[in-house]
Amino acid sequence: MALRSGDDFLSSLSDGRTLWFNGEQVSSIIEHPELSPVAETLASVYDLHNDPDHQSKLTFTEADGPSYSASYQPLDSLEAIQQRRQTIDYWARRSGGVAGRIPDYQAIINLGLYDMRHALAGDNPQWANNIERWFLKVRDNDLLQTHAFADAPRDRSNPAGDPGYLKIVERRDDGIVINGAKSIATIAPFADEFLGLTSPRPNITADEVLFFALPMNAEGLHIICRDSLIPRSVSGHPLAPHWDELDAYIIFDHVFVPNDRIFHLHPADTPVNLDLLGMMFFGIINWALWHILARASTKIELLLGLANGLADHLGKKQDPATANTLSHIAVHLESIQALLFRAEHEPIPSASGMLQPDPKPITAGRISVVDHHPQILQLIRELAGSGILMSPQQRELGHPEIGALMTSHFVGGDQRAKDRFALQRLAWDITCDSFGSRQLLFEMLNAGGAQLNKSLVLR
Ligand SMILES: Cc1cc2nc3c(=O)[nH]c(=O)nc-3n(C[C@H](O)[C@H](O)[C@H](O)COP(=O)(O)OP(=O)(O)OC[C@H]3O[C@@H](n4cnc5c(N)ncnc54)[C@H](O)[C@@H]3O)c2cc1C
Repeated sequence: MALRSGDDFLSSLSDGRTLWFNGEQVSSIIEHPELSPVAETLASVYDLHNDPDHQSKLTFTEADGPSYSASYQPLDSLEAIQQRRQTIDYWARRSGGVAGRIPDYQAIINLGLYDMRHALAGDNPQWANNIERWFLKVRDNDLLQTHAFADAPRDRSNPAGDPGYLKIVERRDDGIVINGAKSIATIAPFADEFLGLTSPRPNITADEVLFFALPMNAEGLHIICRDSLIPRSVSGHPLAPHWDELDAYIIFDHVFVPNDRIFHLHPADTPVNLDLLGMMFFGIINWALWHILARASTKIELLLGLANGLADHLGKKQDPATANTLSHIAVHLESIQALLFRAEHEPIPSASGMLQPDPKPITAGRISVVDHHPQILQLIRELAGSGILMSPQQRELGHPEIGALMTSHFVGGDQRAKDRFALQRLAWDITCDSFGSRQLLFEMLNAGGAQLNKSLVLR
C-alpha cells in the first residue's frame, strides 16, 4: 500500500464530520481561514514520507513488504529504540518541539494500544482481535488518531450538579451506545479516528470504563473547537500560524459503537479495580510519555538557543544575570538528556515483549519539565526586555512614510537588527502570546495533572 500523501490527507477531511468552530458548523476545513493552515502543515508531514530525500529516515519496510511510517516501527531492540528516537527528534526539530500531537506522537499511542491488546482483552479474545485489526488499519493507511481521556471539568463539591461522565447508556448485542463528553482532544478537527481511553479516578463506575475507537464522522460525534490562537495578523508570528494544533471538546450524543470497535469494557454493575485500570491506561501511554519528554528536550534546546541568540544580539553576553539564565537552561537540558539516555539504555519489557524506555526516569524528567518550564519562560522574558513586545517588522521598516524614521531610530547601523527583531518575535510567540501560554499549559497538563505525575515517580 502506498504511503499517504498530503493531498490524500486533505481530501479525507471532507467526510461529513460534525465540526464546530466559533459557534458555526464548518463545511470545509481546507477552505477555512483558521483551520486550513494547520491542515496544510499536517499535509506536509505526509508528503515528507513520500519525499525520496527523507524516505529512508521516515519510513520502514517489513521483510520486502510495503513501506510504513517510521512512527510505527516495532520497538523490539535497543537499536530500534535509538532509531525511533531519531524519528522523534526529526519531527520535533521541524517545529522546535511546539507540536505535541503530530502523527508521529499519535502513532506511538496506537503502538501502545496494540502492545497492550491481550491485557485489555482479558478473557475476551475478540477485543484483542479488534485492537489488532484497528492498529493495522491505522498503520497501513497512515490514519491520524486523536484521543481523549480527560473528562469535562465539574464542581466536585456539588454532586447534584454533576453533568455526568462519558458512559455506556445501552449495552446491545451488536455494540454499545455511549453518551457524554471528553473535555479535550488535541488535533481532533484534523483526525481520522477518535480513540477513547479511560484513566483511573475515584468512584468511577463500570459503565464509565471505555476503550474504543470511532471514525471522526460517526453519527452523533460533535467536535467543538476552542478559539484559534492564530493572530489576526500572521506576519511576524513564526509559530502559531503553522502549529496551532487546536484542541476540541468531543461530545458523544448517544453514539453507537459497534462491537468490532470496542477494545475493553468493564462488566456491568461490578466495582472497578483502579489498580488494574491504571495498569491498562499507563501501559498504553508509556511510550507516549517517552515521546513527550524527548520532544520537550527539543523545545528546551530551542529555548536555550533563543536565550543565547537574544543575549548575543542584545550585547548581554557578559552580564552575570545572562550567564545565570543560560546555565540554568543548559543544566536543565543536560539533566533531561541524561534521564532520556538512562531510560533508553535501560529499557523494560513491554506487555507484548517489546522494549520500553524505563518509565521512572521518564516520569522524573516530565516532572522536572513541568517544574522548570515557567521559570525558563520568565528568564527569557527578563533577558529580552520590552523589545519582546516592540520589535518592528518589514511593514514598518519598509513603509514609504515611516520606514526611514523607524530604521533610523530602531536599526541605526546595526547590521544584525533584523535578526534581533526576529528573535524577539519568536520569544514573544513562545513566552508571551496566547500560543505560548497554551504551550505552557500543554507541558503542564498534556499527560495528566502534575500531582498524578508526581505520585507516579514514587511507585
Ligand atoms: C493544551 C492541552 C492539550 C491537551 N491535550 C489532550 C489530549 O489530546 N487528550 C487528552 O486526553 N487530554 C489532553 N489534555 C488534558 C489533560 O489530560 C488533562 O488536563 C489532565 O489529565 C488533567 O486533568 P484536568 O485538566 O481535568 O485537571 P483536574 O480536574 O485537576 O484533574 C486532575 C486529576 O484529578 C483526578 N480526578 C478526576 N476526577 C476526579 C474526581 N471526581 N475526584 C477526585 N479526583 C479526580 C484525575 O486523576 C485527574 O487526572 C490536554 C491538556 C492541555 C492543557
